[in-house]
Amino acid sequence: MSGKLYLVATPIGNLADFSQRGVETLRQVDLIAAEDTRHIKMLLQHYGIAKPLVALHQHNEDKASQHLLDKILAGAAVALVSDAGTPLINDPGLPLVRLARAQGVSVTPIPGACALIAALSASGLPVSRFSFEGFLPRTSSARQSFFQHKLKDDSTWVCYESSHRIQAALEDMLAVYPPEHMICLARELTKLHETIVTAELAAVAEQVRDDENMRKGEFVLIVAGVEKAPEHSELSAEDLRILEILIKQCSIKTAVDLAVEITGRRKKVLYQAALELQGI
Ligand code: SAM
Repeated sequence: MSGKLYLVATPIGNLADFSQRGVETLRQVDLIAAEDTRHIKMLLQHYGIAKPLVALHQHNEDKASQHLLDKILAGAAVALVSDAGTPLINDPGLPLVRLARAQGVSVTPIPGACALIAALSASGLPVSRFSFEGFLPRTSSARQSFFQHKLKDDSTWVCYESSHRIQAALEDMLAVYPPEHMICLARELTKLHETIVTAELAAVAEQVRDDENMRKGEFVLIVAGVEKAPEHSELSAEDLRILEILIKQCSIKTAVDLAVEITGRRKKVLYQAALELQGI
């Protein structure tokens, strides 16, 4: 095991999800690098593992990574763990992995829980193509611009969000995406209060607004891609002309709402046409 780096996934809530190989690796390495050493101590205690610990977090990553690489090059087997789930997935570790690889050190993943993958697999939304966006921007205006940008995405996308911002994020999404757009909100995965809701955006936002419990815990948000416009649009030239005028005057959402009232056409079709007209 000497002179190696192991990336060990830990549970995201349910201890039974820790793989046998993950536990064995932590038993055998010389040193464990952890995002929060106090947090990982509790996990190690559960398995009766006592090992030297080194903190590796976003504030000391460069220095700690060099220190760990020196140890590895001197022959130590090092495991990197984060507070929960898979290291490097929105967690520290990239500088260490890069340094190790640059020195020809073997880097071995010990796979296990990962919140985004668990949520995707249960969501019922298309998963053959998806992108992961990390945490959403923190301010409302930055979130709305981000959502505008994601309207171009025809594949499923996934992000993490905190309990403090989940409601605001859904309200911002409602200002940009059509209310009937399909999303999945996965909360407290693998824990006692696990909740996975796949429904139209407006319905999920309402549930989160109305039920305080739906704003508690940890969240993965999954958003279906925006379907490309059908080849043979059912809109007339006049419908498109109206839509084009409206788009110049207001947001896509308002333009589409008004166009539905004026033309009587289906909202979904007008929405897709609006995206095309905007070159999205
Ligand atoms: N490395 C982790 C992984 O593999 O999923 C992610 C770390 S990231 C700093 C923490 C975020 O992941 C949380 O704020 C939440 O959005 C999401 N997350 C982690 N555990 C979760 C769970 N049990 N249920 C839902 N989301 C979770």
